[in-house]
Amino acid sequence: MSRSERGLVLEIQRMSTEDGPGLRSTLFLKGCSLRCRWCHNPESISPKPELRWSGSRCLGCGECLSACPNRALSLGAGIRIDRGSCDGCGECERTCPGGALELWGRSMTAEEAVAELLRDRSFFGPDGGVTVSGGEACLQASFVQETLGRLRSEGVGTALDTCGMCTEFRLLRSAEHADLVLYDIKDADPDRHLRNTGGDLAVVLRNFRLLARPSGDRARKRIWVRTPVIPGLADSPGMIEGIARFLVESGAESVERWELCAFNNLCREKYRQLGEEWELAASPLMDADHMDRLVDAAIRAGWPADRIRWTGMTAAGGTVGKERLGSPEPGIGRRSWNEEAPCARDRNG
Ligand code: SF4
Ligand code: SF4
Repeated sequence: MSRSERGLVLEIQRMSTEDGPGLRSTLFLKGCSLRCRWCHNPESISPKPELRWSGSRCLGCGECLSACPNRALSLGAGIRIDRGSCDGCGECERTCPGGALELWGRSMTAEEAVAELLRDRSFFGPDGGVTVSGGEACLQASFVQETLGRLRSEGVGTALDTCGMCTEFRLLRSAEHADLVLYDIKDADPDRHLRNTGGDLAVVLRNFRLLARPSGDRARKRIWVRTPVIPGLADSPGMIEGIARFLVESGAESVERWELCAFNNLCREKYRQLGEEWELAASPLMDADHMDRLVDAAIRAGWPADRIRWTGMTAAGGTVGKERLGSPEPGIGRRSWNEEAPCARDRNG
């Protein structure tokens, strides 16, 4: 058999109800093609392994300093990491007696990833399965293709989570064995999209059409669209109306649901552990009435009321997800914020 493709894996998150139908395991890959100002998973952006240090677990023993072959660690108010010198070898992580040092990102073959994921199959049930997410999963297209292909041949339901910012070749290769595609559309205005995400909206929309419209021997994909709603940056009814009009014109038959994901700022600690400032650290939560108005805007622009909902934490009441009209599909229940740990991978990527 040919060599199994290698990928840089950030994490396998189990028992997820956020990344497709039913109960799923989500394979998060490292490396992203966008730089969203609101990114909730900053540890997934770099395509290289990254080290984090947790002060609460550190015993102050200093073992890591002498273990590092690159002298990338030093003692200050805590352990300081010289990220320019660190090559992600993992020596310090293996040495640390307190578990205070942890590497984000591990190289695995698709064969190894599938073997790990198949351990979870007993909880997938008839609707669940595996979702491959990022970062931007399509940047590791060969790895994704092989991983989803192997899972599908084992009878496991498969999904791909993408922001669509990649070449057509990578997208189609990654999506080949995906039963469902979770597709982020973050704006309808090209200039604002570029300002907020660093990405070319035309590429995202062109790739969406590729998946949503059948062509030749390529069938259309089942798609769930997700749109992050970010206070002051991407939260206007006009933006939602623009996306709605695009979806009505380009993907109405393929898009089974559209989710508006309300901003939260619970990822602040991850920025701190990476030694980075985050411009939205003090931004407020969205208001539930405003989220309702955005749903209304989508419906006004022609999007079917039974295929849209908003989810996430809001300022009034601290909950939740809200079904809007229509009845929930199996596996798309009302979401409680408490189901998700603060440092879990988040949808507002
Ligand atoms: S991962 Fe390797 S290079 Fe980086 S700080 Fe730890 S021991 Fe040093
Ligand atoms: S080896 Fe671990 S516990 Fe010891 S000083 Fe380094 S980070 Fe802290």
